[in-house]
Order: sequence, then structure tokens, then C-alpha cells
Amino acid sequence: MITIQGAKTIEGNIFDIHIQNHENKIINAQNLTILPAVIDPHVHFRTPGLEYKEDWRTGAKAAIRGGCTMVLDMPNTKPPTFTATLLKEKKELIDSQLKEVGISLRYDLFFGADKQHLSEIPGVKNDVIGIKVFMGCSTGNLVIDDDESLHAVFSIAAKENMLVAVHAEDEHLIQERKQNYTGKMDYFAHSHIRNIEVATTAVAKAISLSRLYGTHLYILHVSSAEEIALIKTAKNENLPVFAETTPHHLFFDTNAYATLHGKAVVNPPLRDRMHRDILFSAIREGVIDTIGSDHAPHTIEEKSQAYGMCPSGVPGIEFMLPLLLNAYHEGNLSLENIISLTSKRAREIFKLADYDDVVLVDLEKIATISYTESKCGWSPYMGMTLRGWPVYTILRGHCYST
Ligand SMILES: [Zn+2]
Repeated sequence: MITIQGAKTIEGNIFDIHIQNHENKIINAQNLTILPAVIDPHVHFRTPGLEYKEDWRTGAKAAIRGGCTMVLDMPNTKPPTFTATLLKEKKELIDSQLKEVGISLRYDLFFGADKQHLSEIPGVKNDVIGIKVFMGCSTGNLVIDDDESLHAVFSIAAKENMLVAVHAEDEHLIQERKQNYTGKMDYFAHSHIRNIEVATTAVAKAISLSRLYGTHLYILHVSSAEEIALIKTAKNENLPVFAETTPHHLFFDTNAYATLHGKAVVNPPLRDRMHRDILFSAIREGVIDTIGSDHAPHTIEEKSQAYGMCPSGVPGIEFMLPLLLNAYHEGNLSLENIISLTSKRAREIFKLADYDDVVLVDLEKIATISYTESKCGWSPYMGMTLRGWPVYTILRGHCYST
């Protein structure tokens, strides 16, 4: 048995944690704080078909290192997860990859909404966590850009009591703005082309569909003050609308293009500095419910290409919790905010079963990010020095030192 002695909860209660194990070990945890293990509601672990970027062997290791024991994975793989058969095949692949590394990471999957396969949705309702709708193109070609199909998805979801998660960027507006853009085509153009109006147009539309059909709506990667204003109004109306932000939108802004170049290209794009403060206050006010890493690895070669060729997305699952703990030390978030953001609200919104995975963190540990477990081998956070790190992640009674 492993006994972890003397770890504290944030309320100051002291616990010994006993783990049934063939090892006999006592871990002194007097300087460690117990938090619920992180639930990451937004990852792209790239299986099947894009495993040269990431897979569940490396993804699971990155998750554990970040104090995370449960992930919700997105359907924009190759092929996309938009039929019951493809869903079953994806699960088999994931289970075999996790088995290889001996990490039984908890996971659930989003089903991809696709115009040609909407009739598949009711049949998978008990096997997925929700339906993912790309209102604007991102990696892959899953996109719902016509009103008729959007109405169909929201109405089917409401009828089947399923949640709809939206990538809220308006595809028509993106195409129009791309055509009319006359500025320099550098990475910075990304934030001009996919501007805030691109996001708010889609967010407003998704909220109106939630109002019309009563659909539970989860708005992914909220990045701007304007989206927050719309979500706040929807919540005041008591609509079943929930909001997620990401570490890159909290900790980077458009200044990052100068240093990170293509590594700063994400969808929705990075915004100006002022939006970051508004995201933090929206978390404190409960307008933003969750944080998702939107862990979306690409190879360094792909990210080094010129704007237009460089794919959108960054890895993030490993450093999300340390970034948040560092933000606690900087006075931006309380530990209660962090627990709510990284596990409590996700558990409620996605109606997850109870389990007792925890992460033990050393709030005072200072370390510089120097390597990653992710297959892509890079991180936009490389070189950052953060205060507050996971030390042990406990998943289904297994203790992993991070
Ligand atoms: Zn994503």
C-alpha cells in the first residue's frame, strides 16, 4: 500500500491517502495541496489518422504530467468521428494505445456533426459526451455552415437530450474577410481576418438556437470581451449556455506573434491584451465555467510554414494547471476558482460520474518549462517559469509522479 501522509485540502483539512498497490511506500506530503484531478473537456489527441502529431500514448503521458485524469476528445480526425462505426473503431484504437502505456486515462468522445450524417446522431447518444459543431473551418473538414443543418443539429440534440459544443466562428464571414483582406499576409493577419465579429456572429447564432430549441450549449474557447457579454446575457436569461476558455487565450495575446510566429496561430485567434483581463474577471464572476486546453498538436515543421499554410492549434494539456497556479500567485484567480474551472463545473455540465482522482500540487515549487511529453515535441509555453506544479497525479488508485 502507498500512504500519502499529511496533504492538505484548500480548506486546510489534512488527509492521509491510502492507495492499494503492490508497492509499500510512505510519501511525506506535508507541503502538498490536494486538488481534484483536472478534467480537460477539450483535447485533440489526433487518433485516428493524424497520429504523427499526437496519439493517446503520448497524450495520456502529457495529461498525467498536467494533473489531468479525464479528457473529452474532439472528432476532427482522419476520418472524422461522424458515424457509429467510426466511433466504435476510434474507441478500440484509443483503448489499445492506452493499454500499451499502462495508463487507463478516463475519456469520453464528442461526435462530429456532419451534414451527410445527421441521422447517425440519435443512435450514438449514449456513447458520446455530446455533439461537436464546427461553425467555422479549423483542422479537418468538419463544418456546418448552413442554417438548415444548424437548426437540424440543435433540434435533434434537444430531442435526444444531448449537449452541443460549438466552435463559434462564422465560416461565411471568414471567407468574406479573407477575400477582402488587403494587409500583409503574415501571422498577425490571422487575428484581423478571424476578428471578433467572426466569433460574436456565430456565438449569437448558437445562443439563439439554444433559446429556440432548449438545447444545452457549450461554447468552446471563448476569447473576447464581446463574446462574454453575449454569454452573460444568455445566462441572465437562464438559458442552458456554458462557456469555456483556454490557457492560450488567458496567457497570450497578439503580442505573441512577434516571438512565437506560427506557434501563435490558433482558432479563434489570439486577441489584444485587454481581453485577457476580461477573461479572468469572467472566470471570477462565473460567466466562464471551464477551461479546456484545446490541446491541438502539429509538428514543428507544419507550424514553421508561412501564414496560410501553417495549421492552427497548439499543445496545452501539460501546462494548463501550472499556468493557473501561477495565476493564483499573481492574484488573478483563487484556488476555489481553479477547482471550479478545472473540474467542478465540467463535472456538472457534462454530468460526469463521481470518482476520487486527485492531483497533489506543490504550490511553492518554481520551475521552468523545458520539455514536453507531447509527441509534437514543442510547446508555446517553453521557457516560462511558473510557481505551482503538480507532483503526484492519482488516477484510479494509481499514483504517478509527474
Ligand atoms: Zn479544438
